[in-house]
Amino acid sequence: VALLEVNSLSKVYPNGYEALADVSFNLQAGEFVCIIGRSGAGKSTLLRCINGLISTTTGIVRMQGRDITSLNDEQKLLLRRQIGFIFQEFNLVGRLTALQNVLTGRLGYMNNLSALLGYFNANHREKALECLGRVHMLQRATYRADNLSGGEKQRVAIARSLAQEPLLLLADEPVASLDPELSWSVMGDLRNAAKELGVSTLVNIHDIETAKHFADRIIGIAQGRILYDGLPGELSDGL
Ligand code: ADP
Ligand code: ADP
Repeated sequence: VALLEVNSLSKVYPNGYEALADVSFNLQAGEFVCIIGRSGAGKSTLLRCINGLISTTTGIVRMQGRDITSLNDEQKLLLRRQIGFIFQEFNLVGRLTALQNVLTGRLGYMNNLSALLGYFNANHREKALECLGRVHMLQRATYRADNLSGGEKQRVAIARSLAQEPLLLLADEPVASLDPELSWSVMGDLRNAAKELGVSTLVNIHDIETAKHFADRIIGIAQGRILYDGLPGELSDGL
């Protein structure tokens, strides 16, 4: 079975707006797929439907063959621990160090940060440092997240999601806040880490050239519908 199977998914927001219509695709284990489309195309809605942050209207999403569209709240929390999420604006905890931010990735959602930080042992730390190393951030491990540059923050956020040992990694415009050169180096780190660890990854990205360079496969979305699903090299510029 595919790692992720999205079948006839649609999403109508409470105001009646149909943000996704009949979206179907599979993601195989270890695949690195970029989702392209203009602002408003429905890319972010798609990722949020997959990780259960918002409800789907019709259709089925399966992870490892299991329907994940009709889970209760507790099951959704467990699911989110298996799905890493990388945000455009990083979402680090500014007053914690890079290493502490990565450690928190193991827990997913948290209530009492300081109590939970006491939970980590030497193995957790070693694992977190290994993840920081994968994104070239070992030398920043003890810096407060507040004091890091944008590119460094996103690298730490990537390390945090890797430390979660996710089955699936979702990244919503991860390099949209970074300048072009930095974008490519951060995307390179993201792709290399995902490939080395065999983590299936979906990346929303609006820049087609970046998508073409890094993706195994590209899915193009416009007005909530899939217009293209195929190899980067076969994508025509007209999309
Ligand atoms: P993208 O990530 O491709 O920019 P989004 O998934 O964020 O697109 O948005 C798709 C469409 O759905 C947009 O037209 C957006 O305005 C609309 N939308 C997003 N969130 C909501 C919401 N909570 N209620 C109504 N419409 C929404
Ligand atoms: P809070 O518990 O206050 O929401 P978090 O740091 O857990 O703070 O999350 C910050 C934001 O990121 C929230 O909007 C939350 O819903 C979202 N979020 C956190 N983890 C995930 C995830 N794995 N997938 C999707 N959204 C997430």
